[in-house]
Amino acid sequence: MKEFELIKQFFTEQPVKRKDVLLGIGDDCAVVSSTENQNIVVTTDTLVAGVHFPLGTSPKAIGHKAVAVNLSDIAAMGAKPSWISLAITLPEVNDVWLSEFCSGVFELCEFYNVQLIGGDTTQGPLSITITAQGITPEGKYLSRSGAKAGDWIYVTGELGDAALALLHLKTQVLTEKDIIDQVQNKLDFPKPRVLMGQSLREYASAAIDLSDGLLADLGHICQASNVGANVVLEAIPLSDAMKASQLFDDSINLALNGGDDYELLFTVSEDNKVGMETALSHAGTVITCIGQINASQTISTTLNNKAVPIRSSGFQHFSAKKST
Ligand code: ADP
Ligand code: MG
Repeated sequence: MKEFELIKQFFTEQPVKRKDVLLGIGDDCAVVSSTENQNIVVTTDTLVAGVHFPLGTSPKAIGHKAVAVNLSDIAAMGAKPSWISLAITLPEVNDVWLSEFCSGVFELCEFYNVQLIGGDTTQGPLSITITAQGITPEGKYLSRSGAKAGDWIYVTGELGDAALALLHLKTQVLTEKDIIDQVQNKLDFPKPRVLMGQSLREYASAAIDLSDGLLADLGHICQASNVGANVVLEAIPLSDAMKASQLFDDSINLALNGGDDYELLFTVSEDNKVGMETALSHAGTVITCIGQINASQTISTTLNNKAVPIRSSGFQHFSAKKST
């Protein structure tokens, strides 16, 4: 199958047809309409085989994850996702692989009413780049730079499961099938906190999504906001699967430094705290207060009110440590 047949067969037919897409797949560019009183947020993320997902990952999970990591960035901005484009590099054309990949992509697109409006298809080592766009009311986007001393730090969901799945792939630390399946599912099918992000627009002073690890990503908020933070280790939310793994100290380390959670971390002023908690109690995702912003310019951690030394090793490309 050649490039154009492939595009027609796999990417042109899709579940979502938005009114604001004037031209989708098939021309030199896509054309979308926008209105005066909105902002458009734009993000791009690449997934490289063997770096961002283990080589044995299912095509459906790869498709899901490629979209999810981008929608997670859109969520962190408080925006509503609207359009994606997909640049895919494939070693070969494999119909079964491609249709499963597309089912992963389009399932998430359908759920969030996101339309695939263009892309590029090339041959080479497997790599997927998605650009996602989203919409906010004018001036109402979240950023990393608004945290102030005294603000409370919250995270959505539970942390460290994806890192536990990766650790298990390397060193078989887990024995129970149930637990292995649960953490593997978190690694393969992360849930971008899209609705949560939009609900936070009115309340959060800063937000980021957790892709590199809690300490690293909180560090990005602190740097952008020119503040420091203290994290209360016993407050960090861990899943039942993580607790049942009985890895104890490792659990906190995975939650602090493991990447790939795709939960949101956000800060809220004392004044907005109660309003935010009430508003978000209906959002269907657990949120947990894990610490407080301060003026120190550094990040500290405490356990039962005692300071504990920090071990930070969030993922960075071009450093010795690789995520998979
Ligand atoms: P051009 O040569 O003008 O860059 P292409 O021949 O690469 O266009 O692509 C033809 C059309 O198919 C374009 O509208 C492009 O956006 C779309 N397209 C190509 N690859 C993909 C893909 N993987 N997913 C979605 N749309 C794609
Ligand atoms: Mg092209």
